[in-house]
Amino acid sequence: MTTHLVWFRTDLRVHDNLALTAACRQQDASVLALYIATPAQWRQHQMAPRQAAFLVSHLNALQQALAERGIPLLVKTANTYADSVTVIEEVCAAHDVSALFYNYQYEINERQRDAAVERALENVTCQGFDDSVLLAPGSVTTGNHEMYKVFTPFKNAFLRRLRDDLPACHHAPAVREGGALNRALSPVTVDYPQQPFDADAFPVNEQHALARLRHFCQHALARYDADRDFPAIDGTSRLSVCLTLGVLSPRQCLHRLLKTHPEALEGGTGAAWLNELIWREFYRHLITRYPQLCKHQPFIDWTDRVAWKTPDAAFTAWQNGETGFPIIDAAMRQMNATGWMHNRLRMIVASFLVKDLLIDWREGERYFMSQLIDGDLAANNGGWQWAASTGTDAAPYFRIFNPTTQGEKFDKAGEFIRRWIPELAVVPTAAIHTPWQWADKSQVILDYPRPTVDHKQAREATLAAYDAARKGW
Ligand code: FAD
Repeated sequence: MTTHLVWFRTDLRVHDNLALTAACRQQDASVLALYIATPAQWRQHQMAPRQAAFLVSHLNALQQALAERGIPLLVKTANTYADSVTVIEEVCAAHDVSALFYNYQYEINERQRDAAVERALENVTCQGFDDSVLLAPGSVTTGNHEMYKVFTPFKNAFLRRLRDDLPACHHAPAVREGGALNRALSPVTVDYPQQPFDADAFPVNEQHALARLRHFCQHALARYDADRDFPAIDGTSRLSVCLTLGVLSPRQCLHRLLKTHPEALEGGTGAAWLNELIWREFYRHLITRYPQLCKHQPFIDWTDRVAWKTPDAAFTAWQNGETGFPIIDAAMRQMNATGWMHNRLRMIVASFLVKDLLIDWREGERYFMSQLIDGDLAANNGGWQWAASTGTDAAPYFRIFNPTTQGEKFDKAGEFIRRWIPELAVVPTAAIHTPWQWADKSQVILDYPRPTVDHKQAREATLAAYDAARKGW
C-alpha cells in the first residue's frame, strides 16, 4: 500500500490544511503524520516558554483530531535542523513512504532545511504548499516583477488579486478507511521549559480557535476600526498565536470575515482587520524575498552605523516595566505576565527602547521573542524594523513617539495603566501619565520609579545619532 507522510510544522490543524488535504486525496493511500520537535533550536532562538506550552497543548489536540480521522501522529525530537533530515529519512524508510507533504515555512533556516530534506529523499516525491499565507510570496509584484517595498501599493495589488481569485478553504479530511484509531494516545511531551498560558485568553484547540474567530467576526469586527488602538478595550481578535502556529489558517480568517462583512474587500466594514492580515502577508513576502531580514540585518543599510548604547540598567528597567513612564511599564508588564501585548503598545515600547534609550532594536526583538506567546520572526522583525526606522516602509527616523503623550492619547483615563500598575492607585486620573510631577507637588512618596530618561534630551541625542549614521560620520 502507498504511504503518504504529512510533516506538520507551524500548521497545527486538520481543517483547511493544504498539505494534509493533498496527502488524504488518494483514498487508498495510508496517511501518517509527523512532528519533529527541535528544543535545542528553540533554546538558541529563545522561544517563549508560553509559546512552547501552547504548542505542546496544540500538538496533543492535533494528535487527537488526527486519530479521530484514522491518522497516527509520530512525534520525534531532533537536536538541530540538520538532524531533522536524518529523522525524516528514517521515518520514510521505516514506513516505506512514497510521498512527503508539507506546508512551507519562509524563514531562511527552515527553507534550507527543507531543501536538504528534498535532496536527501531520492525516492520520495516531495510536495510543498503555500499554506500559511493567502497569496504565495513572489506572486504579488510590481510591473517589473519586483517585490513591493511599500505597503500601500502592495496592499492594493494584493486586494486586486483577492477580488479576482479568492483562495478556497478546505474541509478537514474524512475518516480514513479502517476508521478512527481507538487505542489510548500517549500525551505528547517536549523537553523544553514551559509556562502555563491563560486558556481563557488563548484558544486551547482548533474548535475553540474557530469559535473565537466566529465570535470576533460577529460581535467585535464592526467596532474594530474604532477600538483597535485602545489597549483598555478588548477590541482585537487575539488570534495572533493561532495564526503563528497554524491553529487557524489566514484563509479561514478571510472567509469568516467575508461571511459576516462581504464589503470588507471593497474597503467597507472589516477592511481595517483585513488590512492587518495583509500586513502579516507583507512581512512574510518580504523575508522570503530578502532572507537577510531573518538574520536580523536592517533593510536600510546605513542604520547599521547608528552608535547604539550598550544595554544597561535602563534596558533591564524597560524589560521589567520599571521605566517610570506608566504606559511603557503597563505594556511591558502585560507582556511579561500574559505573553501578549496590544499592537499599539508594541509600537510605543519599541519606539521607546530604540529612540529614547538608544538601544539596538535587535535587543528588543530578541526580548519580545523570549516572552511573546505569538512570537513570529516575520511579524516581529517587521514590527521592530518599522519602529526603529530601519525597515522597508518604516516610520521615518525623525518620528519619535513621546511616551507621555502616547499614553494620554491611547489610554486617556489610565484604565489600562491602573490594571497593570497597582502602585499608581492613589494617583488622580489627571496625573496618571506624569505621576512623578503629582508626587512632587503633593509630597507623596510613590513606590514607583521616576522616569529613567528625559524624553526631550533623549530625542535630541537619537536624532543626532541617526543623522551621524546617515551621513557616515
Ligand atoms: P488583530 O488586530 O486582531 O489582527 C489580526 C491578525 O493580523 C493578528 O492576529 C496578526 O496575525 C495580524 N497582524 C495584526 N497586526 C499586524 C502587524 N502590524 N504586523 C503583522 N501582522 C499583524 N505579531 C505577531 O503575530 N507576532 C509577533 O511576534 C509580533 N511582534 C510585533 C512586534 C512589534 C514591535 C510590533 C509593532 C508588532 C508586532 N506584531 C507581531 C504585530 C501585532 O502587534 C500583533 O499581530 C497583534 O497585536 C496581535 O493581536 P491580535 O491577534 O489581537 O491582532
